[in-house]
Amino acid sequence: MGNVSGKGDIVQDFLSQAKADFSKKWDTPESCPEKLDDFERIKTLGTGSFGRVMLVHHKAKKTYHALKILDKQKVVKLKQVEHTLNEKRILAAIRFPFLVNLEYHFKDNSYLYMVMEFVPGGEMFSHLRRIGRFSEIHSRFYASQIVLAFEYLHHLDIVYRDLKPENLLIDHQGYVKVTDFGFAKKVKGRTWTLCGTPEYLAPEIILSKGYNKAVDWWALGVLIYEMAAGYPPFFADQPIQIYEKIVSGKVRFPSHFTADLKDLLRNLLQVDLTKRYGNLKNGVQDIKIHKWFTSTDWISTYQKKLDAPFTPKCKGPGDPSNFDDYEEEPLRISSNEKFSKEFVDF
Ligand code: ATP
Repeated sequence: MGNVSGKGDIVQDFLSQAKADFSKKWDTPESCPEKLDDFERIKTLGTGSFGRVMLVHHKAKKTYHALKILDKQKVVKLKQVEHTLNEKRILAAIRFPFLVNLEYHFKDNSYLYMVMEFVPGGEMFSHLRRIGRFSEIHSRFYASQIVLAFEYLHHLDIVYRDLKPENLLIDHQGYVKVTDFGFAKKVKGRTWTLCGTPEYLAPEIILSKGYNKAVDWWALGVLIYEMAAGYPPFFADQPIQIYEKIVSGKVRFPSHFTADLKDLLRNLLQVDLTKRYGNLKNGVQDIKIHKWFTSTDWISTYQKKLDAPFTPKCKGPGDPSNFDDYEEEPLRISSNEKFSKEFVDF
């Protein structure tokens, strides 16, 4: 990935093939024969605004998965129908080592279901809060995978829009998997919807300007800062105060940050879009060849050949111990189909 190391052709070939594979699946979405009864529900792994994610066991295949359950009524009420359709259609069409893989999807009268691979190491967020902050070596290991994942997504004209440590899972080898494509969108050119998480919003989103993929590179800057500092670059009690700091163009760094890290972050957390790294004529290359990434072998990273700085404790393929406990709730499936028109494309 990236024509550093003189391997540019391999990368271009990979990206062209990836685009062809994606387009085929994007244009002709497939349905799955699976249904809820095929899975035993074990435990809630996480909750969101309109549903939850549960560890499940495929009864026939004896495999573990993460099942995202969305309540159609809540999705409609929160005006997230379009986002949910985007999420499923994008997830079903992508495949990349650092993006969570969607394995099946189906719906019933009340809910939408997405069955993903189960990523057992838990959220980066929990590990980061427990450890306090990651070393720059550790932060760079995760950041390099996000760079490759965004290079792949942006090549497919997909903007992710929700980067944050809660959406980054750690797999059994210690590598990252990005989950939650609820705000991901296929977009050529600009888009306008206000979405994301306050601390991670790019200034152009806050200022209601049309924005593009460069918002993901801004968010990468926020993430790298948060991993290496233990707290995000712009924070305050109220979102409005956070927004004022974001658009101010000022950022302060902890004294332990190296000069290379500060330089990279000044170029990612750059309010001026004509100067932001990732958004210039060399695209992602400006980031990949930056001094902070000098030691990164992009090909070995993509191939997952490097030892991770941290590997989570996992007692087996279906071990949920790296996730918090949540109150369990039964599903209430209606006897008549809800919102059939809205979700016809799911
Ligand atoms: P929100 O409304 O906060 O955006 P959401 O409903 O969109 O949440 P997700 O963010 O997709 O839901 O997932 C919620 C949580 O479930 C994640 O933060 C993570 O802890 C867990 N989770 C999601 N996908 C997986 C997976 N594939 N393997 C293991 N855990 C997962």
